[in-house]
Amino acid sequence: MSRMAAVIGSTEPWQSGEVLPTAVCVLAPNPSAMTLDGTNTWLLGSPGHGTLVVDPGPADAKHLTAVQQALAERGQHAVAVLLTHGHADHAAGAARFGRVLGVPVRALDPAHRLGDEGLTAGDVITAGPVEVRVVATPGHSADSLSFHLVAERAVLTGDTLLGRGTTVVAWPDGSLRDYLGSLRVLRRLADEHDLRHALPGHGPACRAPAELLDQYLQHRRERLDQVRTAIEAGAGSVADVVAMVYEPLPEGVYPAAYASAAAQWEYVTGRPAH
Ligand SMILES: [Zn+2]
Repeated sequence: MSRMAAVIGSTEPWQSGEVLPTAVCVLAPNPSAMTLDGTNTWLLGSPGHGTLVVDPGPADAKHLTAVQQALAERGQHAVAVLLTHGHADHAAGAARFGRVLGVPVRALDPAHRLGDEGLTAGDVITAGPVEVRVVATPGHSADSLSFHLVAERAVLTGDTLLGRGTTVVAWPDGSLRDYLGSLRVLRRLADEHDLRHALPGHGPACRAPAELLDQYLQHRRERLDQVRTAIEAGAGSVADVVAMVYEPLPEGVYPAAYASAAAQWEYVTGRPAH
């Protein structure tokens, strides 16, 4: 059974820096098999204006300092922390960032907020010249949001779309049906607004979001075909599917493969993946 699709996304090295005049990445120091180069903390704003700090990443004092330095060097100041979702590699540092920077933390999930303001699909948030429209993109997690930067023709995707490799559907919170729907929502957005940039939660920014989304959708179709074939060939459990479709696996990614396989098992069989 074929296991690995062609590499999706960019294999270029990735580091902190300005991607757009109004979008700067500060890479968090948490690289791993699951987080690629580390979590991308995005600063959305321009000199002299308030700036949105998206996904502070892990609770890491050095990273907080690096974000403060990047803001100061550019003459920017934070006005809010926004979260694409509540996974710890994006959100664990959020409350501390919010307190130290003196700004609210806005997230879909009330458990991750600091202050009274939430964050929900359809919200429009402005910071100087930057206008962010919030788009619901559940699937990777139930609380996943993406941020459409209108003037920049960009979309900040959290973990819904990564700069390299593919995303885990974090079953049971995540749902493959929702995830496929969200990829289609972003694909339509890319067409309707002629998007030129994807700013992912991990890995390199992408200058061809529509093509990347097509690759993601294609990869999902291929994986589902593989899972269906494995089940027809006798796979009787999620662990069987992992063994037949995913292995051999690099160290540390079995839980992620299991979660994705479980999401696909439920999607294909309609049965709970216990
Ligand atoms: Zn995540």
